Amino acid sequence: MTEAGGSVTGTRRLLRRLRDIMAGSGTAQERLDRIVRVIAAEMVAEVCSAYIMRAGEVLELFATEGLRPEAVHRTRLRVGEGLVGVIAATARPLALADAQSHPSFAYRPETGEETFHSLMGAPILRGGRVLGVLVVQNRTLRHYTEDEIEVLQTIAMIVAELAASGDLVNPLEIVQSQGGGLLPLRLVGVRLNTGLAIGPAVLHEPRVVIRQVVAEDADAELIRLRRAVTTMREAIDELVETSREIGAGEHHEVIETYRMFAADRGWVARIADAIRSGLTAEAAVQKVTDDTRARMMQATDPYLRERLLDLEDLANRLQHHLSGRPLGAAWDELPPGFILIARAMGPAELLDYARRRIRGLVLEEGSPTAHVAIVARAFDIPVVGQVDDATSRTEAGDIVVVDGDHAQVLIRPSADIQQTVTAAVEARTRRRAFYETLRTVPSVTRDGAEIKLFLNAGLLLDVTQLAATGAEGIGLFRTEFPLMVRDSFPPVEELTEFYRRVLDRAECRPVIFRTLDIGGDKVLPYLPHAIEDNPTMGWRGIRIGLDRPAMLRRQLRALIRAAPAQTLFVKFPMIAEVSEFDRARAVVEMELARAAEEGRALPKSVKVGVMLEVPSLLWQLPELCERIDFLSVGTNDLLQFLFACDRGNPLLAERYDPLSAPMLAVLREVVTHTRAAGVPLSMCGDMAGNPIEAMALIALGFRRFSMAATSIGPVKTMIRSLNAGAVASYLDEIGERPDHSLRSKLEAYARDHEIAA
Ligand code: PEP
Ligand code: MG
Repeated sequence: MTEAGGSVTGTRRLLRRLRDIMAGSGTAQERLDRIVRVIAAEMVAEVCSAYIMRAGEVLELFATEGLRPEAVHRTRLRVGEGLVGVIAATARPLALADAQSHPSFAYRPETGEETFHSLMGAPILRGGRVLGVLVVQNRTLRHYTEDEIEVLQTIAMIVAELAASGDLVNPLEIVQSQGGGLLPLRLVGVRLNTGLAIGPAVLHEPRVVIRQVVAEDADAELIRLRRAVTTMREAIDELVETSREIGAGEHHEVIETYRMFAADRGWVARIADAIRSGLTAEAAVQKVTDDTRARMMQATDPYLRERLLDLEDLANRLQHHLSGRPLGAAWDELPPGFILIARAMGPAELLDYARRRIRGLVLEEGSPTAHVAIVARAFDIPVVGQVDDATSRTEAGDIVVVDGDHAQVLIRPSADIQQTVTAAVEARTRRRAFYETLRTVPSVTRDGAEIKLFLNAGLLLDVTQLAATGAEGIGLFRTEFPLMVRDSFPPVEELTEFYRRVLDRAECRPVIFRTLDIGGDKVLPYLPHAIEDNPTMGWRGIRIGLDRPAMLRRQLRALIRAAPAQTLFVKFPMIAEVSEFDRARAVVEMELARAAEEGRALPKSVKVGVMLEVPSLLWQLPELCERIDFLSVGTNDLLQFLFACDRGNPLLAERYDPLSAPMLAVLREVVTHTRAAGVPLSMCGDMAGNPIEAMALIALGFRRFSMAATSIGPVKTMIRSLNAGAVASYLDEIGERPDHSLRSKLEAYARDHEIAA
């Protein structure tokens, strides 16, 4: 075991020597040369080399002790190539006693490294980016210890300071190679929240520059850490209070979860350990964050990856408290109506910005279920995520367009595009104002057909849209959303309280709760889920509900308790056969009996329905209709199963059209059966919220729709301009044509008849 890797004093001595070199004279290159020499000596390694990232994702040998000097600035490896490239690609350390037998080993004759058998390397990380790789090599088959790997990672942090200084490689080299420059750019990402915004860019620069990596006095650093943790926790408590004042909603729960992270002792303990190894408090926070990031980036579980963002947000906050410059110091300087560009962002950070005239957000990371997306929805901020290199391609003050609807970002758009977008934003504002005026006007066609419009909801906040839109009630409450941002399945009391709040907020309007539809793309972090080849056709929805009835029972118990003396509406997702419905209904009856036994006030009545999403059910409609109180068609799933077409695959997005003979024939059949049986029918899939599709549905006989709040205005406008009888006759004429799509015919019809579809 080496001295440096084996004892705290050894490590501290090494860190001090490196600090002295960093603070000493000479060019960056000279200091790097000295650093690799000291590391090799202290770690008893024959070789120590530093590879630094250059433009085009190439790692260049910048300094070495032990390899041939002529290889310096000549040996280059692409990210992913050779062991050095693998360390850079994975951002994780690697230690191999017999490196040459590793499948990724890439031999470079100019280095003379064939005589060295073992290799240990660590990524040089800065703010989550890999700036290079630090490697030691030994002639013998040496088994590096965990402690030695730790030490190398710590040293890599010091080298990161040098690499990030811009003195080794001109930072512009990397930016320019990525097509930066000042040309207009269109970057594509993933929609995290809809909407359109334009404004000047503000680069979210969360990182505090760490000036000192090695500590003089570990005890003093520990005291600083303790103080900063205390003030940070107090500030977060305040944030929780503010979020409460802004209004209840899931964003609030998100912030509460975040507070739990801040209270996590394990996290602070790991930072304290890093301080004891010789780092300053700031460097220790950075190290723990880098370690966690490297570990968690490997996780495929999206939930875990999102928690990482919360942790990074927290680490950044702690850095600001350590620096004595709490976040927000520069907020007065933010330009009005700005677009924020960030690598990643936690929910609390966005909450802070949400109160400060932010118009749009662009992230290099993030997924639609991320906490930050939930906060964005609560504040109606358009967000595009997974935009590669957004932060390095934008400069502060650049005009940026965030087009959430089309998941794209325009950077430095030309003047005419700016004008067009500004006009579109204004037109949207005007349209919104117009739709608001429709709130109280009846939803009736020109020939008197009354169409009931309901909202799809998943958050408490969505329920507040009832008043704003004038909708009749909630036609689909997706109960899984609030449960996805938690760490455990809530106790019945908590669930009851939540459903009660939903019902209270709906003010006597009906709310149709759909029982948990997890599985597929919706994952509960606390429910173990196997990797499935076809998750949307896998163990999801009612299948889980019946196989693991504890959750379904708890949910139904809470719903029953939340609706005393009211009509409770419940529907089950993904029912594929009548017997599944029978079993699910039996659970409702059981819970009702239990509530009665416990002497609780029962709902006035319970209406139980089914989501029609699986085609097999179409051949059991008469039997189903005898049993159910209502039927809701979920076209999102029905369409994907009918055409065997993954609803989430962008390559298939436009492949099949719901406005085509097969889908329309299915829906006609559903109308016929439910009418004959007197079963109320509604449609809550995305088709309902699209005016031209809703027009076709009305022609088929649908009279109830449930949709996103933003669709109510456009659909109501279409309804009020429509003659339902006339369009029904037209569809009778063309509906069975085996065309790929009837959309253009229906659009032409709408144009000719002045229907606003
Ligand atoms: C549907 O499948 O159409 C539906 C409304 O359910 P979800 O989109 O939640 O799967
Ligand atoms: Mg569905």
